[in-house]
Amino acid sequence: MNLNAPITQLKGIGPRRALLLGKLGLFSLRDLLYYVPRDYCDYSSLTEVAKAAQGEDAALCVTILREPKQARVRGNLRICTAPAQDETGKLTLTWYNQPYGGAKLQAGQVLYACGRIDRTHGVKQVNPVLFAALPGMLPVYPLAKGISQTLLRQAAREALRACLQGCGETLPPALLQTYGLLSLQSALQAVHFPQTVEEAAAARRRLAFEDMLLLRVMLRLLHEEHGAAPVRPFRMEGILPAFAARMPFALTGAQLRASQEIAADLNKPQAMNRLLQGDVGSGKTAVALFAMFAAAQNGRQAALMAPTEILARQHYAQLCALFGEQKVCLLQGGMHKAAREQAYEQIRTGAVTAIIGTHALLQAGVEFYDLGLVITDEQHRFGVRQRAAFGAKGKEPGVHTLIMSATPIPRTLSLILYGDLDISVLDELPPGRKPILTRLVPQRKRADMYAFVQAQVQQGRQAYVVCPLVEQSDALENVLSAEDVFAALQHTLHVRLGLLHGQMPQAQKEAVAAAFRAGEIDVLVATTVIEVGVDVPNAAVMVVENAGRFGLAQLHQLRGRVGRSSAASYCFLLPGQGGEGETAMERLRLLTKTQDGFAIAQKDLEMRGPGEFLGKRQHGLSQFAAARLVTDMEVLRQAEEAAEALLCAGAEAQPILAAARARLLALQNEVVPN
Ligand code: ADP
Ligand code: MG
Repeated sequence: MNLNAPITQLKGIGPRRALLLGKLGLFSLRDLLYYVPRDYCDYSSLTEVAKAAQGEDAALCVTILREPKQARVRGNLRICTAPAQDETGKLTLTWYNQPYGGAKLQAGQVLYACGRIDRTHGVKQVNPVLFAALPGMLPVYPLAKGISQTLLRQAAREALRACLQGCGETLPPALLQTYGLLSLQSALQAVHFPQTVEEAAAARRRLAFEDMLLLRVMLRLLHEEHGAAPVRPFRMEGILPAFAARMPFALTGAQLRASQEIAADLNKPQAMNRLLQGDVGSGKTAVALFAMFAAAQNGRQAALMAPTEILARQHYAQLCALFGEQKVCLLQGGMHKAAREQAYEQIRTGAVTAIIGTHALLQAGVEFYDLGLVITDEQHRFGVRQRAAFGAKGKEPGVHTLIMSATPIPRTLSLILYGDLDISVLDELPPGRKPILTRLVPQRKRADMYAFVQAQVQQGRQAYVVCPLVEQSDALENVLSAEDVFAALQHTLHVRLGLLHGQMPQAQKEAVAAAFRAGEIDVLVATTVIEVGVDVPNAAVMVVENAGRFGLAQLHQLRGRVGRSSAASYCFLLPGQGGEGETAMERLRLLTKTQDGFAIAQKDLEMRGPGEFLGKRQHGLSQFAAARLVTDMEVLRQAEEAAEALLCAGAEAQPILAAARARLLALQNEVVPN
């Protein structure tokens, strides 16, 4: 069967299941084949009931003693149990809310029961999956609601049966040999259903290797397309001191260093291609302003693209302070035609030198007079294609490019993703910053916490309260909405309260954001619209409701909205009413322990894998299913070495280059959010 065939071609996958699997990004047979398990259950040998220890994931061979019985406990919870035994001992098979889980069992039946051993009130139990034969090693896939391991295992097995034979080898034989890699067919089979732990590891290594190899080759191709194009160099004499003199604060050592690195780039006749990486609050904006200032001093235009309107407005204010209002132009979505046409005109004639906007900057009508520099703020919020489109706005073949990101990408990944970019790092916060005191606040302390917020307001501070939803949703019980929290706090807090979320009309959003910035609102109840970039230094308290619903990196970003002055600041994380899962709690606890964005990112990466970590759509890493397996520096190094060799090689490299090109194209055509 064709790899591109839809999964509905498989036995047992109808439209309903296909819809569920689509939630995991599984549409074609290829998607299934490359859907790499996150772990395995080793059911290749039997454990005796007597020896099965609590917490162990064991395969038992048992005889059912009695037909399963159903019982209803606590409201909705239904338990179905059946006693069973082997020669060494007894235990109870237990299913929760799976009414048919054991219904077909009869006394005397002999079965393989596999699962994690548990013990309640001294009785051994297991919530098993049942098999007629010893199942061996079984894959454990990342799941979504409504999808079971059993369904995915079945689907993977079917997909392998249907099309493994048709999977042609993608790597040259010499390469397989040099690096001791499994063939593609063996790797695909073994990554799902390995015989041993070692075989599983070898399979993952082979798939990850290929992904890394393609990614490296791809980046090189991308670089050849967009990189080091010739440009008119900027004159840079005296520009940094002149800029520093205009700033309201002294630049930090790190800001100075990054600015000097950028100045050296701008001074060259090849386009700059630089990433400015710095944790939230490290002052990336000032460095961007410097680069824009340098462009203006050279009579060239500079454009700055921000992911949200709120952030664009905020940058606009700073640019006006630096260049004067006449020289700056703000472009955003939903502008009136007349205003937009006027802005286009100013940009086209060179009347403005600094242009700030959202992705509205990418619209076809935007033609620059003489664009010398483009900067993308919070670059991880944009797709590769948007960035490329932005770069292509310059008239010359090349334009200096600076991208900024607070996502501190772990070393392995930054090598993969930005191997061809130069990187400047802001590893120092502006002076006088105090650590943000971060606490996990249990529900029963909620009132006390809000009393504390009230007290902070009385001392002149401002606060954010972030909620996961805009309005109440029936589907998500126990999840607080910004509207409800806003309504509730109006009764409990005696403060000037504001509400901000993405569904409000543009003008209202702007008014609220401006009022908060001006100190006319004390406590701002918001959704994640304030997640990135928003800078109100007087805000000292961040409350996150239903904190378990946010990712680590996101929480770190949210927390970065406070701690922007020398005042003590606080971040309170409230688990939801219904409690949070263990991984969510682990995330929250980590945040209370560290404020180091790098450590947090590293942990996030471990917990979620790079695809998720970077946002599915971002770098097209979704196409690199196995890439998330790369925590192994050695595989990466070898893949890089192999990529270099391939790029210099002759005909035998052609299929790989073609594959890389195809992926690059797919990547650039990926739908990007906003
Ligand atoms: P980032 O974009 O890196 O998260 P910002 O550029 O928003 O950070 O800067 C965070 C805050 O620190 C802002 O209020 C900014 O005015 C302030 N700031 C930046 N650099 C300095 C500095 N050298 N000295 C004092 N304050 C600074
Ligand atoms: Mg910023």
